[in-house]
Amino acid sequence: MEHNKTYGGLDTFRLIAVFLVVANHTAPLETFSPEADFFLTRILARLAVPFFFMVTGQFVVARYLTDTNRNFHSVWDYIKKILLLYGFAILIYLPVGIYAGFYQKMTVLRAFKMFLFDGPFYHLWYFPALLVGLLLVCLMLRFFSFRSCMMLSAVLYLVGLFGDSYWGVTMHFPAAASVYEACFQLFSYTRNGLFFTPLFLLLGAQAGGISSQDKKRHKNILHLSGLFFSFLLMTAEGLILHHFHLQRHDSMYLALPVCSIFLYRALLKWNRKPSNRIRTISTWIYILHPAVIVMLRFLAKLSNVVKFLIANCLANYIAVCLLSFLAAGSLTVLISGLRHKSLHAPANTASATGRAWITLDRSALHSNVSVLKELLPDECVLMPVLKANAYGHGALPMAKELNQMGIYDFCVACVSEGVQLRKSGITGEILILGYTHPDQFVLLCKYHLTQTIVDYEYANELNRFGKKIRVHIAIDTGMHRLGEYAGHTEQIYKIFEMKNLIIVSAYTHLCTCDTQDPADQAFVKKQVQLFYNLIDELKCHGLPCPKTHLQSSYGLLNYPQISGNYARVGIALYGMKSSREDYCFSNIHLQPVLSLYCRIASIKELAQDEGAGYSLAFTAKRPTKIAILTIGYADGLPRELSCGVGSVLINGHRAHIVGRICMDQTMADITDIPDVNAGDIAVIIGKSGKEEITAYDLAEQTGTITNEILSRLGARLERIMV
Ligand SMILES: *Cc1c(COP(=O)(O)O)cnc(C)c1O
Repeated sequence: MEHNKTYGGLDTFRLIAVFLVVANHTAPLETFSPEADFFLTRILARLAVPFFFMVTGQFVVARYLTDTNRNFHSVWDYIKKILLLYGFAILIYLPVGIYAGFYQKMTVLRAFKMFLFDGPFYHLWYFPALLVGLLLVCLMLRFFSFRSCMMLSAVLYLVGLFGDSYWGVTMHFPAAASVYEACFQLFSYTRNGLFFTPLFLLLGAQAGGISSQDKKRHKNILHLSGLFFSFLLMTAEGLILHHFHLQRHDSMYLALPVCSIFLYRALLKWNRKPSNRIRTISTWIYILHPAVIVMLRFLAKLSNVVKFLIANCLANYIAVCLLSFLAAGSLTVLISGLRHKSLHAPANTASATGRAWITLDRSALHSNVSVLKELLPDECVLMPVLKANAYGHGALPMAKELNQMGIYDFCVACVSEGVQLRKSGITGEILILGYTHPDQFVLLCKYHLTQTIVDYEYANELNRFGKKIRVHIAIDTGMHRLGEYAGHTEQIYKIFEMKNLIIVSAYTHLCTCDTQDPADQAFVKKQVQLFYNLIDELKCHGLPCPKTHLQSSYGLLNYPQISGNYARVGIALYGMKSSREDYCFSNIHLQPVLSLYCRIASIKELAQDEGAGYSLAFTAKRPTKIAILTIGYADGLPRELSCGVGSVLINGHRAHIVGRICMDQTMADITDIPDVNAGDIAVIIGKSGKEEITAYDLAEQTGTITNEILSRLGARLERIMV
């Protein structure tokens, strides 16, 4: 489906784009036709780098933009990553650079030019251009509207254009030319972070914004024909400039931004599987391919076969692509191997060797996100609730997957959950819904977490801490859990005046959305009214509240018309209601995301009247075979399921749990199931053959709700996204 926003098309095109960059540096058609090569490398391949900048625009700048407070930390986290890559790349090319004498006669000005603009090797200009461009764009956005920034960047691009492809025109104006010449002391090209990058970052941010508004959609044929015609234009432009020898350099064309917009829009619609691996591999191909080019030249001195690979440009291109791909692929595998080692287990082999584990169904999650998005009113975005380890699903894999879908704002219950996400590199807004002890306020600053104001007293306490903290004010509109009373307007005004609190939002929690009972419905209405009356009063008092939110799963499902800027969705996102029978006004189809598995450790045969387990709570009424399962109540399997209450699925058959569930082990009767062996998999929640056990079943058997069953699933279960 189209609104399943996964951006797989962007991932695939990264690989194509990076091979275009390689073409740029190897001139594959030069041996056959210099004209054809000009077209390929100086026109077509020029689409590659703007595309990369636009991706950054969509994922980094757009996020910066959606944050009303222009919070810089998500950009900063990205910058740190790019700096790390840039630093690593500098190191790789240091020997070649020294050998080629790049670092001789280093002056401050030269270092400035090299590291901030040109890059210390010919392709490495990309990193400083990205960093400088990004900083410039964020700075502009701090002071000007998006539209003004776009105009400014377009002007910068035009200025750059006349130092690049249109240099021949500039030369007719000696005064201008001398200004440019002076600037070229500082950077060799105008294709850099000042003139080139900002426009594409902003165009990417804009394209991303459009793609996330699912309603206004253009047919892809429009983008494709736009791409075709603008590319024709760019080709004509390039050939004419080339013919009249006007180019000083050939990275910037008038038609390039237009062409890039159409290309990007078309790619957003290209329905492909997203792939982390392709993303990483293309980055490394970008970094490594010049090293491969150098290495091939070196080897050519030693071998005749390799000589051919240098002399024939096309063969050279193909060889460089292949070898770079191999090198980048191996490096990616190596890095991800190291990462996995640092986690507690090699995640993707868990189904082969794991003791007990959870699988998360990626496509179910995507589908839930897109059906829930359809329910959201305008201006409202999902703020998934990742408390209690994402209701047992695993906060980190969920956050990462949701990031992939363009969702960056999350809620958690407590500060430690927020810190855990930050330490794992999750960057967007993280709102703590519950109480944080004053001794831990320092963590709010350190990890830039957003705190809920649980009442007026608490606001005072937080304000006294003395550092600026982002907060959402909880308002009690009748649930009487957390929040300052909606009627206490004087206190709430005072909270707004506290110097150290950066007030981002006010919110309330509705507590009777899950039934059709008229009294409950009236109560919802009352809560909403109390909340918005307060917001209006604040406004009249000159204290407009930047954002508001009221919705959680049942609110959204049953009262989708209630407005707000966020929907704090928990259980529905995980594909469940709390109880099977709960009323749901929106007739939407949610898919459970989680399945839970364990393994048969051993099989025991009991004679009639023999007992098993603690207190010998099970007695065999007939000769019985029992399977010993590698899961227990410490993993979150409720002990109430003991002694025949619960069951598991083995090879498509249902086996009753017998005896008492232990901390780490459980027994199931497999007497009537053929062909069961030690090592076989048992399903606790999920499907096996035609049978299925859902979290609803477990909740009903133990007298609770799915929320409790799921959120109690233990920490030692491995979690794998499939
Ligand atoms: C847990 C929680 C939610 C999420 O509730 P669901 O019913 O799971 O969607 C939303 N808001 C607050 C304040 C919560 O504590």
